[in-house]
Amino acid sequence: MDERAPESLQQQIEDRLRYYEDLGIRLFYRDRTAATVAASPSHAVPNAVHTSAIQESSLPKPIAKPFFPKAPAAAVPPRIEPLVAPSAPSLFESVNKIKDDTLLKIREDIGDCTRCELHKGRNKIVFGDGNPKAELVFIGEGPGADEDAQGLPFVGRAGKLLTQMIEAMGLQRRDVYICNVVKCRPPENRAPEPDEVTTCSPYLLRQIDVIKPKVIVCLGAVAAKTLLETTRGISQFRGQWLEWRGHKLMATYHPAYLLRNPNAKGEVWKDLQKVMAELGLQPPKKSKSS
Ligand code: SF4
Repeated sequence: MDERAPESLQQQIEDRLRYYEDLGIRLFYRDRTAATVAASPSHAVPNAVHTSAIQESSLPKPIAKPFFPKAPAAAVPPRIEPLVAPSAPSLFESVNKIKDDTLLKIREDIGDCTRCELHKGRNKIVFGDGNPKAELVFIGEGPGADEDAQGLPFVGRAGKLLTQMIEAMGLQRRDVYICNVVKCRPPENRAPEPDEVTTCSPYLLRQIDVIKPKVIVCLGAVAAKTLLETTRGISQFRGQWLEWRGHKLMATYHPAYLLRNPNAKGEVWKDLQKVMAELGLQPPKKSKSS
């Protein structure tokens, strides 16, 4: 008898494992009490198939048209859960508030920055882009090759997908503000090192303090973990409303992750619908000809 999991399930498990790997989760524990574990050792199948964390029913369901909703966003009451214990030392608490700060002043203070190692490989500093009074700020991890070349955030393939996401929310890019945790491209698109994040994030904090958005959406684990100063995996709080320094914060997947895992777009769309409800946004109406 062929005891391998069906090909579709194997594919979903592979996708899900890649997703966990993207989040930095590489260790899995086999739940020996799971109902799916065969009683007899002779019926043992690969651990991945019977790991309780990745049952088929818990895998994301693909949706046909991810960023073009059929129905208006549902009003979902925000759930605020502080993630940082009050006693935890905060990177951001040590950043001095600057009186009458502006985005221009912050950019001038960054100057031709050489404060961390990332300056060595960059072409352009990617400061941020968009509405300086935006109610909604998207924060990513760091610039990629296209962003480094143009000096603008989210302009590559992932950026195009982010633009689609923003437009599906009934907004334009110019309505929101987009920036990253680090302003210079990490070599070979690696994740920024903790010391690079620590050195650069005061600028991000100042940007947020100046813009004063109602809602912050962290795109991916690096942005979420940096702001929330947590080591918890993003999957533990993705899609939940969190409180961060008086702002409502939601973490969701990075568009680059969605390019590799299109099935996760449905989960992101649900997260964005919560943001839309919070901001009173409606998806754009489709024209009759489309
Ligand atoms: S990443 Fe930030 S701290 Fe590092 S060199 Fe660039 S601007 Fe300076």
